[in-house]
Amino acid sequence: MASHHTMKMTMKLNRAKARTSLTNTYPHTYPHFSKHHLILVVLSAQLESSGDISPNKLVVNRPVSWCRNLVLAIALMVTCVGQADARKVSRVIIDPGHGGKDKGANRGTVYEKDLALKVAFLVEKMLKAKGMPVTMTRRSDQYISLRGRADIANRYSNAIFISIHFNAHTGTRLNGVETYYHSELGQKLAAHVHLRMLSQLQPRNGNTRQRKDLGVLKATRCPAILVECGYISNPDERKKCITSDYHQKCAQAIVDGIWAYKTYN
Ligand SMILES: [Zn+2]
Repeated sequence: MASHHTMKMTMKLNRAKARTSLTNTYPHTYPHFSKHHLILVVLSAQLESSGDISPNKLVVNRPVSWCRNLVLAIALMVTCVGQADARKVSRVIIDPGHGGKDKGANRGTVYEKDLALKVAFLVEKMLKAKGMPVTMTRRSDQYISLRGRADIANRYSNAIFISIHFNAHTGTRLNGVETYYHSELGQKLAAHVHLRMLSQLQPRNGNTRQRKDLGVLKATRCPAILVECGYISNPDERKKCITSDYHQKCAQAIVDGIWAYKTYN
């Protein structure tokens, strides 16, 4: 019943050439209803149900509804059915954002660069446990230029690049998780990781977006994404962002997303 409703909703969205909040990821109609398109359509519908998700607008906090969770669960299932079409991923480049003199965002004693490194170490540990080779762009509070980070990734073939960040805004109400990509390959990776971020963290808001202005994504030749794990400028979210439980969930979502991309994409 519920899945029928969801299918109807996604088909309706598809037919109606609906422009969603994911205008960059879903600007077209799809004559062939592929699995990847379905993921994006379901994700769009799921996010629309959460209200205003634009990071450029003030966000109205709404409780996470059971309906939203149900649609999300279905979207996750859809990504894991059908024929496996394995994508070759022989190395993951993990890029903890900022470092050294580049402090990134900070609020009081909470520094984005420190949180990003903590999540990155967890991602590294989990991927290594799965036998996946990993390269970290930094392992300490060290400055590396954006070009330098991309150069590390560009040394390898069949790699994917994940840049880990925490967000901040001058307003204190913005919240949620955002995942950016530059290329089409990055878009698919972003969709997989973002779905898992929504599932693990249950943020009130968040979307995936193409960003052509992020140097680190632009200069990286392999599929590359940048994950903003939460807003440290929002006092409530900051409290969560500093906990090891939250770091663990972020890392698990990133690893699960990488694995889904590698296995099913
Ligand atoms: Zn950042």
